[in-house]
Amino acid sequence: MKFGGSCLKNADDFERMASIIEKEEDKKVVVISGINGVTDILLNSLYSEDYNAEVIQKSIESLKNMHFKILREITEDTHIYRETQNILNSKFTVLERLLYGVYYVGELTEKTKDLILSYGERLSVPLVVAKLKSRGLESEGFEADKIGIVTDGFFGNATANLQETERNVKLALLPVLRNGCTPVITGFFGRDYEGRTTLFGRNGSDYSAAVLAYALDADMVEIWKDVNGFMSADPKIVKNAKPIQQLSYEEAAELAYFGARILHPRAVEPLKIKGIPLRIRDIYHPEREGTLIHHISEKNWNIKSVTYENNIGCLKIHGAGVGSKMGVLGEITRYISEHRINIKSVITAQTCITLLLNSEDLDRSYKILSSKNMRTIERIEKLREISLIGIVGEGILEYPGIAAR
Ligand code: ASP
Ligand code: MG
Repeated sequence: MKFGGSCLKNADDFERMASIIEKEEDKKVVVISGINGVTDILLNSLYSEDYNAEVIQKSIESLKNMHFKILREITEDTHIYRETQNILNSKFTVLERLLYGVYYVGELTEKTKDLILSYGERLSVPLVVAKLKSRGLESEGFEADKIGIVTDGFFGNATANLQETERNVKLALLPVLRNGCTPVITGFFGRDYEGRTTLFGRNGSDYSAAVLAYALDADMVEIWKDVNGFMSADPKIVKNAKPIQQLSYEEAAELAYFGARILHPRAVEPLKIKGIPLRIRDIYHPEREGTLIHHISEKNWNIKSVTYENNIGCLKIHGAGVGSKMGVLGEITRYISEHRINIKSVITAQTCITLLLNSEDLDRSYKILSSKNMRTIERIEKLREISLIGIVGEGILEYPGIAAR
């Protein structure tokens, strides 16, 4: 059961979450992301223009206020209160020292950045444990790096090593589960082979939940959100958008990739391997079924959903015959990926290769390619303010006429 930051804003949210967890009779593992907005507070302070002691103090203060306010409101038990207060205080001490470290050294490495951003989750888990305990539920908090969620070490956007993670996590959590205790685990990160904290990318806690489900051979993953599930379109734009009851793994991944903000695009990867279903559910309407994502074999002609992404830029790479010369595309993508820039999509024609990129990567990619003097390329053009519209449904390729309609 995974609960995201938007379901963890205040004491009422904690109450709602605790009743949902309590009602689940089977053995369960809870995965938590940071309290709403915490990762952003950390990011904004690290990148503030005049990063100094004052900025550090301010963000530590506001984070302390947020967390201790919730703590005061979720438990009346003084023992649980003190215990949690101590845990939070020791986390805050380390976080504060890390922030000062960056200030005094005057440098923010990828490694340090991932470690600092992981504190949102390290701070939220103790609160969830406190809430469950004060309800009389046996529960224990775990940090993902300590229980051995192993990653490939790619800072900011790591992938889990599923086999190693499975071995470690089974050892760490099965005994806890057997004792009737509910483990609560930090989402968003794991550790690489050298023990360094590595993040799974923004909103990565969904992926953490999927990785844990894989590792523990779970029957089901539930991702609890403050919305209904996947919709046929963005309800803010399309008034009569309808909820979607079922999606295949691929459909969910494509929708997430092309802009639906409801699920981390990679969350279905580990689940698909073991055929574990995932359900998106609404904390405000736990009686609703939400969207079920699983293996669907029958295809039909339906368009399941339309989604969009506004944050797109295009790089048009012009040159006579780029489409029919071998290796041009390979060269382009290699230069760009060497700088760890992700290409969203590629369209090639005879005289032009078009790369779709996140708009913040546009200028950098332009510079990289312009500096390479590749003979085949005559001119590179940048297009800003592009929207990408994704139309998703398993049967689209096989049934004629859908695109025309
Ligand atoms: N707290 C992290 C973020 O804001 C991870 C997550 O929310 O899943 O990106
Ligand atoms: Mg979040």
